[in-house]
Amino acid sequence: MLETVSKGFKAARNKLKGRTEITPEVVDDALRDIRVSLLEADVSFDVVKRFVARVREKAIGEVVETKVKTEKGQLRVTPQDHFVKICHDELEALMGPVDTSLRQGERGRPTGIMMVGLQGSGKTTTAGKIANRLLKDGKQVMLVAADVYRPAAVDQLKVLGERLGVPVFHEPGVSPPDMCRHAFEAAQRDHRNAVIYDTAGRLAIDDELMTELENIKANVAPENILLVADAMIGQDAVKTATEFDRRLAIDGFILTKLDGDARGGAALSIKEVTGKPIKFLGMGEALDRLEEFRPEGLASRILGFGDIVGLVKDFEQHVDEETAEAEAQKILSGDFTLEDFVNQIRMVRKMGPLGELMEKFPMFGELPENFQFDDSALTRIVAMVDSMTQAERLRPDSITDQRVKRIAKGAGRTEKDVRDLLKQYNAMRGVMKQVGSAPGLLARLPGVK
Ligand code: GDP
Repeated sequence: MLETVSKGFKAARNKLKGRTEITPEVVDDALRDIRVSLLEADVSFDVVKRFVARVREKAIGEVVETKVKTEKGQLRVTPQDHFVKICHDELEALMGPVDTSLRQGERGRPTGIMMVGLQGSGKTTTAGKIANRLLKDGKQVMLVAADVYRPAAVDQLKVLGERLGVPVFHEPGVSPPDMCRHAFEAAQRDHRNAVIYDTAGRLAIDDELMTELENIKANVAPENILLVADAMIGQDAVKTATEFDRRLAIDGFILTKLDGDARGGAALSIKEVTGKPIKFLGMGEALDRLEEFRPEGLASRILGFGDIVGLVKDFEQHVDEETAEAEAQKILSGDFTLEDFVNQIRMVRKMGPLGELMEKFPMFGELPENFQFDDSALTRIVAMVDSMTQAERLRPDSITDQRVKRIAKGAGRTEKDVRDLLKQYNAMRGVMKQVGSAPGLLARLPGVK
């Protein structure tokens, strides 16, 4: 996801590499790459203009403190680090702050969650995903099939409800506003904690639809109105969001299909344009492919620094909390071996598409352009690690040229492949060690808080 934007920031970073001083010319040169990539990703022109102006002002205006004292001595901060930090902060500010919690119903009232959005945006699927999330928190949920115009929507929700073991409320022939009111009353009677209304969408916004949604809102006074928008439609998603917000005063967005879109510009513009935050990201069709939106995590990923916090959250969904923390500690201490690394990859493999998970590993910010982290890349890495001795895996520093040759031969790879793997491993370990051991530097290194 967001490869287009990432590419621009990476190019900008490279322009500052090795510089000892930031001049306006160098900054402008770097910002040109960023501007082009943002526009290419379909971020709206005004947002791009303001973002670039803010970064420029800070990059040129601020005095760079190049030596930072830490408990373990001094560390230098280069102009490149400084520029990356500014970009990180501004990206985070652009998309945040976000409170991803849902507003709860007061005094035993079931929490109302009204899903709105255009047809095909992923509303019904996302209603199921939210129900799934609430179920995991031990809540009693009810789904309401109030999309009575799209023929398959009611059945689709019923199937989801059956899979989740959640009742689906529907009354044939009853108008959606009345049906939602009846559903709310039933949920209250049954002491449900939450009721999720899947409302109708259209191919484009029209007045009739908006009036119906306003009537539903008036009838059930939902604590949360969430607009589901398809990331692939870019600036159009932002326009739709603005119009829905004007009529319904929504609480936040869920941006779907981020898994399939390299551009994803809507993620960067929607907050700045509407003033309302993205609360969740849809990252696939399956019911567990819903992520809480964390602007700092996305900013780090865009800048190629991975997202350790996001990674730990993924771990937590699939292994117990203790194991997740132990693994994260290992990564943060820089005290992990190649073997740990491969084990971690094996573990995360269960969690979802590999390439997307790999973006959260800090090391992969350093990968060559157009590198596709897929199963075959993993197989190659595993083959190389497998043809190392135990001692080499535990202490990759000990791998001499002679050994590189042997490992490459054993794995059927080139010596360069082995060296690249070691280089990336070292880069990741280096970054994480700095982060883990120098709390004072945390604020300067994006990615970990
Ligand atoms: P609705 O008309 O708004 O209710 O949309 P649906 O929930 O029926 O979704 C439309 C299509 O988008 C379906 O094929 C879904 O499986 C798919 N979809 C929904 N969310 C996501 C997502 O986050 N990622 C991907 N790749 N597909 C999604």
